[in-house]
Amino acid sequence: MEFKLLKNHHTATREEHQDYSDTLFHLTISQLMNHPYYSNVLTGFPAGQHHFNDDTPILTGIKLAQLTKDNPLSMIDDPSGIGITICSGGSTGKRKAITHSRDFFQRMIDLGVRAVQASSIETPKAVANCFMAGDMSGAFTFGEGICDKLGVHYFPVGSKIDPLSLGEIIEDFKIDTLFCTPSFAYSLAHRASNLASFSSLKSIYYVGELMTNRDAEYIQSRLNVAIRSLSYTTSELGPIGYQCQGCAHDTYHINHDAVHIEIIDPTSHKILPDGHKGEVLVTTYLNDGTPFLRYNTGDLGMIHQSCNCCERQSKTIQLFGRTKGSTKVCAFTLEKSLVLDVVSEIVPATDNDIQVVIRGNKVDLKLQILLDSDKFSSQELTLIENKLTDNYIFKRIISQSEVLDFCVTRKHRSDFNKSRMHKTPFFIHS
Ligand SMILES: [Zn+2]
Repeated sequence: MEFKLLKNHHTATREEHQDYSDTLFHLTISQLMNHPYYSNVLTGFPAGQHHFNDDTPILTGIKLAQLTKDNPLSMIDDPSGIGITICSGGSTGKRKAITHSRDFFQRMIDLGVRAVQASSIETPKAVANCFMAGDMSGAFTFGEGICDKLGVHYFPVGSKIDPLSLGEIIEDFKIDTLFCTPSFAYSLAHRASNLASFSSLKSIYYVGELMTNRDAEYIQSRLNVAIRSLSYTTSELGPIGYQCQGCAHDTYHINHDAVHIEIIDPTSHKILPDGHKGEVLVTTYLNDGTPFLRYNTGDLGMIHQSCNCCERQSKTIQLFGRTKGSTKVCAFTLEKSLVLDVVSEIVPATDNDIQVVIRGNKVDLKLQILLDSDKFSSQELTLIENKLTDNYIFKRIISQSEVLDFCVTRKHRSDFNKSRMHKTPFFIHS
């Protein structure tokens, strides 16, 4: 048996999903037993078992960064050496490259097409791809591949375009679909004064961050479009789930033929049964490319055995945002460990010394880093500010048009912002 997607995914029974998934799990484990890195991780793992144990090692973002840094090839099991290298956002400030084989990348595209088809929105005819272009962007390439497979009239627009120019292109070419992040869609809906130019637009497909109901309603009210996710996906793992017509914005049918998902308790790391909320770990089924085994996505989720959205019998996963160690700013993941690492290059720091404040709406964001004035001198502040603005992830966030201001400020810790529960969180949105 080969690693192929389940042809009848939409109509398969629960048992068919389970059997297929178990078989792919077994195949994946057998292959990884010979992998230079995973063979150690899987030492003593029972051959016939179709689930991990509580103590099977977890692949964290930090661990992944170390692995790709020390020896990139150790993660690639592609004998041809031919693949596609895209940039993975994540816990380090450095560019972290992940290479997928062409076969694996093709599967990502097929799963994206599955998502478009499951949305039951009229098939796109002309698509403007407004994901961030260049910079080895996974989302942009994903969008491009889907358009290619769907055979649509394709417009590689990118995310830097202003509403007026985008409106002109949409009007001139009768574009019916946008691929973009929720932040981009919200910003467009808010800023566009030329709404008549957008009248041919029928749908928006997004990836990169959660779409809230409130934002979706606002975008719909301004642009009169259907909104669906292009998948719950990451550059590392490919599509994990998709939305049918009836899924709420935070819920996805699981691609049981592509991934094995576990929900674990954030503290004890014990695997939780369906219906419990915890951290989302994903294992990709594959026979080449870069394998991911128990990769911690940094998302909080819950698996539901059944859905009330459609007849499909795949399980669904509901997402609740990010774990405490990270947040999303304009679809970029900002990790606590990254901020601490950069600051600690100047002065060793802990969670309590710093607060990251994200102020304002999606269209006029202000990103502020507060440093405890008891701990950091003004001279150190300048050095830290330079380090941060020089950092790869920060540079990308600050350059987004939604971010109007970025500053580093000294403030006494007692004056840091408090949550509703009167705590002083590391990340605070206000
Ligand atoms: Zn459904």
